[in-house]
Amino acid sequence: MNYTPGPSVQKRQQLQFPWESPPENGHWQTVAEGVVWLRMPLPFGLDHINLYLLQHDDGWVVVDTGLGTEQSREVWERVFREVMGGAPVKAVIATHFHHDHAGCLGWLARRFKCPVYMTHGEYHALFISPPEEDEPNWEFSQFYARSGVSEERQQDFLRVVRAGSFEQDVPTSYNRLIHEQVLRIGGRDWQIVIGSGHSPEHACLYCHEDRLFISGDQVLPGITSSVCVAVTEPEANPLKNWLDSIERLRGISDEVLVLPAHERPFYGLHCRLHQLTEHHHKHLDAMLGQLDDPKTADQMMAFIFPRAQSPFDALLANGETLAHLNFLMSEKRITRRLEGECFLYQRAGDAGEPSARTQVTHIS
Ligand SMILES: [Zn+2]
Repeated sequence: MNYTPGPSVQKRQQLQFPWESPPENGHWQTVAEGVVWLRMPLPFGLDHINLYLLQHDDGWVVVDTGLGTEQSREVWERVFREVMGGAPVKAVIATHFHHDHAGCLGWLARRFKCPVYMTHGEYHALFISPPEEDEPNWEFSQFYARSGVSEERQQDFLRVVRAGSFEQDVPTSYNRLIHEQVLRIGGRDWQIVIGSGHSPEHACLYCHEDRLFISGDQVLPGITSSVCVAVTEPEANPLKNWLDSIERLRGISDEVLVLPAHERPFYGLHCRLHQLTEHHHKHLDAMLGQLDDPKTADQMMAFIFPRAQSPFDALLANGETLAHLNFLMSEKRITRRLEGECFLYQRAGDAGEPSARTQVTHIS
């Protein structure tokens, strides 16, 4: 990538927030010429998502859409009138497939007969649906049994997964975004920068010239985005993808105004990337420190995330724990063996496995 900052750039030691408070939910604020920050309400503990509206010729390009709810559509109607003044939406870009980002994709595309831009991985992830049965299916049961989760708690997890599935209004077609592709929007060149780990192929938008970076959930100032292993791919290594993505994002100028999908815009991208790396390395070290004796993923989860008590929090914490364990396995720093229905993890070397450093996929 050709956007490495010059040597004169001083790195920030802490994040700086140019706006002391966000717009009220359902309201907006101009953050750069032709760039509007829209605070879309969400009915969760995390009560908002930031969407960005980019002026383009005689209309607008929208980055992310909000949940597919009546509340979002009402805000959009007001935005069409009061921000866009009746001018059309010319395209919708979704950074990734999560409901709060992509929930109104189909609705917006239909209404304006405009194209949707997404990466291949995110578009196809829109079609993954949770199990519909009342009882956990065998993959679901096996996945959580292998973590050491009791049958009763598996039922709780299934309820959480099903309750969290909002109707996805999926557009019939999309235009594929690829890494380093340039979108010219309203006289600005926005380069697509792809990250992974929180979702399969997350698109960020970088305008080098004006030092703007729409980061989606790939970089948030205060929250750490979830990096989880889920039942759809038990052997995934999303934490490696996430840490690799952070390295890639270090190629972006530290001078950018980061426009994240949650919380407030900020300066200090490289400082935040450093904090995120540290956060995960702290978890990895803490886990290794516990694995002189064999333990289940559930035991590790209770140690690393002791506050994750509700089924929703525990489900996420299970996914995060597995992400760290799968990462440590890929680094050959721990080993795993199946005992009964459950995987036991242990620091490498202690288990006496001479083949720990070879690259072999065991079909089990
Ligand atoms: Zn997300």
